[in-house]
Amino acid sequence: MIKITSFVLKIASRCNLNCSYCYMYNLGDKTYLNQPKFMSIETIKAFANQFELHSNIAGIKYAQIVFHGGEPLLLNPEYFKNCVTIIKETVPNVEFSFTVQTNGVLLNQEWFDVFKSHEIRLGISLDGPKKYHDEYRVFHNGKGSYEDVVKGFKLAKKNGFVAILMVLNPELPAKDFYDEIKKLEVESLNLLFPDGHYDQLPFGIDKLRFGDEDYTPYADWLIELFQIWKKDIDRPAIRFFEDLVEMLLGGNHSGNQNFGKKQNGVVVIETNGNIEVVDSLRASFEGITRNNLNVHTNKIQDIFEDDIFDIYYNSHEKVCEKCLNCPVYDICGGGFLGNRYALKNGFDNPTIYCKDIIRLLSHIQNDILETLPANTLDELEVEPLSYEWMMGELKNQGEELINKQVKEKLISFKQNH
Ligand code: SF4
Repeated sequence: MIKITSFVLKIASRCNLNCSYCYMYNLGDKTYLNQPKFMSIETIKAFANQFELHSNIAGIKYAQIVFHGGEPLLLNPEYFKNCVTIIKETVPNVEFSFTVQTNGVLLNQEWFDVFKSHEIRLGISLDGPKKYHDEYRVFHNGKGSYEDVVKGFKLAKKNGFVAILMVLNPELPAKDFYDEIKKLEVESLNLLFPDGHYDQLPFGIDKLRFGDEDYTPYADWLIELFQIWKKDIDRPAIRFFEDLVEMLLGGNHSGNQNFGKKQNGVVVIETNGNIEVVDSLRASFEGITRNNLNVHTNKIQDIFEDDIFDIYYNSHEKVCEKCLNCPVYDICGGGFLGNRYALKNGFDNPTIYCKDIIRLLSHIQNDILETLPANTLDELEVEPLSYEWMMGELKNQGEELINKQVKEKLISFKQNH
């Protein structure tokens, strides 16, 4: 039985910010305009009932719930208390981890009292120093949100909440970014590649240089940050690096939707109760995530009838020919599905960050190897990697490995029929 153990509840379909790179509002899809502004308590109850059925059938003992938006804090603290109580009481045999992902602008002490009493964790989005954060993360009147977010973060720290989420921005010097997180005493952060695909390249990529073999702006930035971070004896936890190091050393980390070979058991519940694939795929084209499934009428597992969910769930197996031949396929997994999209051939591509990933992985692997004693190296059986060698390997493809049906399915999402 296929298990869904992670849910993103889109409890608000609108946001008090208007971030320029946001997949919800400013990339390929405007269907959020048809959604109710907030998820009703009836829909929370319907979700909890459907999950109770699914958890019994699939034998689920642990699940993650992320309250997401839009901006989830546009609702009120009482709403959150109700949601957590309803879900826990309806699904008593599952242990839950609750998180709210917020832009941080509306945080105040009342929120923290609820987060603590209901064991809700917190992730705040911050994109670096004021100058850079305010370029993208703006209110609807164009005013930057940095001051408000930092105020929220400082209050979060006082209350024992520490996690930051940052969208990568190679235009921001890595050193300035690191100085900022040290200044704010950030203890834990994660990094995200910006949404985008072959026909909508993200900021930080020069379209004219995108095809150059040596052009890897995201890797260059990440390598600089990795070096600064590694040398800092009092460094914060950067999950992005820690996960990659663990995977490179053959640890137990099996990946996530961006890396590795793991299946992606994340489902989005929309404000109207629709059961959908992860919503950052909306950057691909208008309506790609939409279907007719809803917690008021369908079972959670009905999502497996949705073609796009099937590709997403198995996205590290259903990859293009190039990825199947790639020396770092086991770690990269072809990258996040949404970053593989092109209007002309759907998802039959490596991620737009392919070269960056190859350069970054080779750098980190070689860097680790240089620091390890010889006997540990022998035990690990890990060899140094060369960017140039790997790029060469990708050109020397032999016998076709891709399954024809998988290829057809990946291509079937193309838009210029
Ligand atoms: S590095 Fe590139 S070719 Fe290799 S698996 Fe990742 S996306 Fe595919």
